[in-house]
Amino acid sequence: MSDTFDLIVIGAGPGGYECAIRASQLGMSVACVEKRDALGGTCLNVGCIPSKALLHASELFAETDHFEKMGIKVGKPKLDLGAMQNFKQQAIDGNTQGIEFLFKKNKIEWVKGTGTLKGAGEVEVALTEGGTRTLKASDIVLATGSDVAHLPGIDVDEKQIVSSTGALELEKVPGKLVVVGGGVIGLELGSVWNRLGSEVTVVEFLPAILPGMDGEVAKTFQRILKKQKFALKLGSKVTGVEKSGKGLKVSIEPAKGGDAEVLDADVVLVCIGRVAYTEGLGLDKAGVEVDERGRIKVDAHLKTNVDGVHAIGDAIIGPMLAHKAMEEGVVLAERLAGQSPHMNYDVIPGVVYTQPEVASVGKTEEELKEAGIEYRAGKFPFTANGRAKANQQTDGFVKILADKKTDKVLGVHIIGTQAGEMIHEAVTVMEFGGAAEDIARTCHAHPTLSEAVKEAALAVDGRPLHM
Ligand SMILES: Cc1cc2nc3c(=O)[nH]c(=O)nc-3n(C[C@H](O)[C@H](O)[C@H](O)COP(=O)(O)OP(=O)(O)OC[C@H]3O[C@@H](n4cnc5c(N)ncnc54)[C@H](O)[C@@H]3O)c2cc1C
Repeated sequence: MSDTFDLIVIGAGPGGYECAIRASQLGMSVACVEKRDALGGTCLNVGCIPSKALLHASELFAETDHFEKMGIKVGKPKLDLGAMQNFKQQAIDGNTQGIEFLFKKNKIEWVKGTGTLKGAGEVEVALTEGGTRTLKASDIVLATGSDVAHLPGIDVDEKQIVSSTGALELEKVPGKLVVVGGGVIGLELGSVWNRLGSEVTVVEFLPAILPGMDGEVAKTFQRILKKQKFALKLGSKVTGVEKSGKGLKVSIEPAKGGDAEVLDADVVLVCIGRVAYTEGLGLDKAGVEVDERGRIKVDAHLKTNVDGVHAIGDAIIGPMLAHKAMEEGVVLAERLAGQSPHMNYDVIPGVVYTQPEVASVGKTEEELKEAGIEYRAGKFPFTANGRAKANQQTDGFVKILADKKTDKVLGVHIIGTQAGEMIHEAVTVMEFGGAAEDIARTCHAHPTLSEAVKEAALAVDGRPLHM
């Protein structure tokens, strides 16, 4: 067994494992150091995949409320949370084992343990089975991802006060769940437990949920969440959480100051964001620079300040999304193989997997206004879309923002059932530098929800057909 490779990747999350696979496809010998006992990182083990499995199962559970009007009589559904958690575990296992298979197929060596950078070209691994192993390679990729951010003074025990990881593992449906943070992960996990019967209160510091999203979309989504019986405490901050008997008392107050309020909770989910994870990586000693938020500094080619050391994914600047990490992994592997790939950071979609889903790509109206870019907006509601009407899933709309002079698509924002699938039409058009007229002139199958995208494109030019 050789200890010398062309490439060492530390971290087998979506960024690291895709980088390793692509590098191997391009003929490099690759070792991937991962300390978890399963490959796939945050995404496959405690992130995207388990949350989507629970979102899917809980959505079907809640959907039974609407069965009767469709002529389906099944009675009141009963929840077997243990079986649902088992369904989630199968999703994790199927996916993590899939990566293990791909590593074997591509002859990537999984070195199980914690990797520490010893300087250019060298990584020391504290092996899971005990002992150490020193690996050498001309190129090293740091893909160590991120960890949950903590609220000072609030200790997460992953039972009653939980992070996203604990919220995926609850053994009982909490009667009252307080979610601290109205971002993507808080709203997704809040939705899971809301559908299974929890009374959910979301406390958000800012005046609106989903910071950074298009304002009109966020407002519409707030209205829909309220219809789903979410309580939203916006512009509010949590100042403390105390145990009280079997439950918890959550103290909140207006962000701008004012009267305090106490909320009762059985479980508190702290979901205020994530921070780059570089613990034990030895960046200091190896001389690798980090920014003020602890993220590894890289240049436009994903290179750190130390020769032969590169970084990708959640550990560096940019949206903390699995597909962003994956693209960087592939682009980096291809660059190391001497190719000249390109990554377009302006066209990275974002999806909130609630019901309805929220999906966006490119600029929001607020960003265009701030940048002084003149644009035309075309909007089409699902209430006027035949398929949405047939399915009685008419919440939401598609909004397309296009440059006023050139008609080039600058941003697309969708709130509606299957928005996360529909957004890719916009992503492709934007990647090709297309115009709203290109979408408007493209034949869309009928009856589909995607026809609303075409209609929104027609609306950019003031000529929607079904409105
Ligand atoms: C609940 C939740 C839901 C999410 N849902 C989505 C979603 O739907 N879509 C989406 O795009 N993103 C989602 N994300 C975000 C997504 O999981 C991350 O953006 C993505 O996993 C980042 O990939 P990465 O490769 O950079 O790092 P990670 O996936 O964090 O992987 C890093 C890996 O490195 C390992 N590691 C760290 N240090 C060392 C070391 N020194 N030695 C060895 N191994 C080490 C870690 O054990 C980990 O396995 C979600 C996150 C959470 C928490």
